[in-house]
Amino acid sequence: MTADTLPDAAADWAAHQGIPLVRTLAGAMLALDAQTGLDAFTLPYPPEAQRALDRTVLACLLREATPPASLTELVSWCKDVPLTDWPVDLPADAIGPEDRLLDPDSGRPTELCHEWAERTRDSALAFRDREIIHTALRLCRAFGEEEAYTAFRGLLVNRPVLTAPESFEVLNDLVLEPVHELIRRIYLPVSDSYRYDGEYVCCARCLTLLTPVHDGEWWCERDRCRRQGPAPLGRRLRPEEMGEVHQVERPVRQFVTGPGRAEAALEQELSALGLAVRMWPGYDAYDLLVTFPDGHRWAIDVKDWANPLFLGRSARLVPQEPPYDEAFWIVPHHRVAARRDYVSVYERNRPSQARDLPLLSDTDLIGRARARVRKQKGDTRA
Ligand SMILES: [Zn+2]
Repeated sequence: MTADTLPDAAADWAAHQGIPLVRTLAGAMLALDAQTGLDAFTLPYPPEAQRALDRTVLACLLREATPPASLTELVSWCKDVPLTDWPVDLPADAIGPEDRLLDPDSGRPTELCHEWAERTRDSALAFRDREIIHTALRLCRAFGEEEAYTAFRGLLVNRPVLTAPESFEVLNDLVLEPVHELIRRIYLPVSDSYRYDGEYVCCARCLTLLTPVHDGEWWCERDRCRRQGPAPLGRRLRPEEMGEVHQVERPVRQFVTGPGRAEAALEQELSALGLAVRMWPGYDAYDLLVTFPDGHRWAIDVKDWANPLFLGRSARLVPQEPPYDEAFWIVPHHRVAARRDYVSVYERNRPSQARDLPLLSDTDLIGRARARVRKQKGDTRA
């Protein structure tokens, strides 16, 4: 594709030098967090971190701003300075007013940081979570086991953390046999930074591990959860009693487990309205297939992304099979509440092939489903 055949949004995108810089910064923060923890890094720095520092210094000098003097200072910028106040050139829709790469309380990478690192790659196939899901699909199809695939998705959503006996049980579960090796590769031993007073604690809402912060308090990595208040403490795991604890890797938690919790909540609410709901039908063609009593069908994909621009850019039509009458992309209500222009930024940035794909919040979708059920009942009575 030549430059003049690029859609406007893509052309604008390439023109902003700030995009690769923020992506580099996000990658650097993730690398530092993975290597030593963001408060305890030592020389030599990981190459991503050095690159991020060099590029930021250059960007500052070009804008005649004072650059960060050290990597420590760069890390504090990521934590304390919202991206809108950085001396970098970014397209208007790319950031919200409070967007930061590191959480100001816990100092851990934010969900936005993970999206910047993962979702700004050129090819969707390079996304780590999609690579894993595609591998699982391939393996399950080869075995002809749709049930294995559904069980695998269920595992990622409902059991992101496994103790040693649980790992043993999962790896001996015959339904999951096609993906045993994959499970072994994506459930990783948990680092000590998650441990406080000898134990790990899971969030009762999100089921993933909490991070200990100051004074015995715990921090949940999900934006959605923190907006609902302090994390409710769930399972407590002591490695002395339960052996080594494993957690599914971060890109999977970010892009599969998190939205999966929202999908599961939606499934419950739609079923409660008396509708038939199938999860991940047709080897995961989309997330939910909802059938109304009159046979009308909705195809739904749930997208729990912090950044509406990335979401708009990745919009694509919902696959035709299994067949349906209407299709929607759904975003949890809290995303729309946190950024008022969320839906309009999505709409402005979606590619032309996906122009007709509507984005609704989950509460709007439930409202629409309820109205449709009510109208249908009225029609039957009349
Ligand atoms: Zn949580």
